[in-house]
Amino acid sequence: KFITLEGTEGVGKSTNLAVIVQWLESHNIPFIQTREPGGTPLAEQLRELLLAPREEAVDPKAELLMVFAARAQHLAEVVKPALARGEWVLCDRFTDATFAYQGGGRQLPTTLIEELEALVQEGLQPDCTLLLDLCPEVGLSRAQERGELDRFETEAQEFFERVRDAYLSRAKADPERFHVIDAAQSIEAVASDIRKVLDSELTG
Ligand code: C5P
Repeated sequence: KFITLEGTEGVGKSTNLAVIVQWLESHNIPFIQTREPGGTPLAEQLRELLLAPREEAVDPKAELLMVFAARAQHLAEVVKPALARGEWVLCDRFTDATFAYQGGGRQLPTTLIEELEALVQEGLQPDCTLLLDLCPEVGLSRAQERGELDRFETEAQEFFERVRDAYLSRAKADPERFHVIDAAQSIEAVASDIRKVLDSELTG
């Protein structure tokens, strides 16, 4: 199975990745854990280029192509081989993040993203997507407390409102694949919601 974890800044992705890893280990499920953008040496270099704060304004289409260039390499080198071996793939962000950040945030047309998605993924989609949902005001203040803001984290709150809305509308359009988790709850309640979704994936 191909499981992805999504959400805006400061929703608790790292904490909950650990929850998922623990669940996979306790069920003796063979899996790999990876992330996007990144997951291979080339894709991690593209990630660094993408996230580095810079004076030059980055053209949204240049940003979009970098994300998909990283994704093509990651799929070929890591994700597809693991799925072919019968392992589960746990991925920190995937194409829903592109629809959310480059589509919602940067306001690139959805159709353009869909074209690149078709080119790069050839129909491959996650089986299960966990969306940690939180209002950006709370999320951003959590992220800012951590310091070291990347190029995206310095965007205005409106940007993240659009990112969140894009995530939520994708979730609404595909309720089979998406599971929206209320990330404003306590850490334990969020973890428990996630484990319930995973339990249902195992039986479903
Ligand atoms: O997952 P993580 O928060 O580490 O992602 C790093 C940054 O990359 C985030 O700030 C996110 O906004 C950005 N990103 C993006 N477009 C993507 C994927 C990630 O802008 N498609």
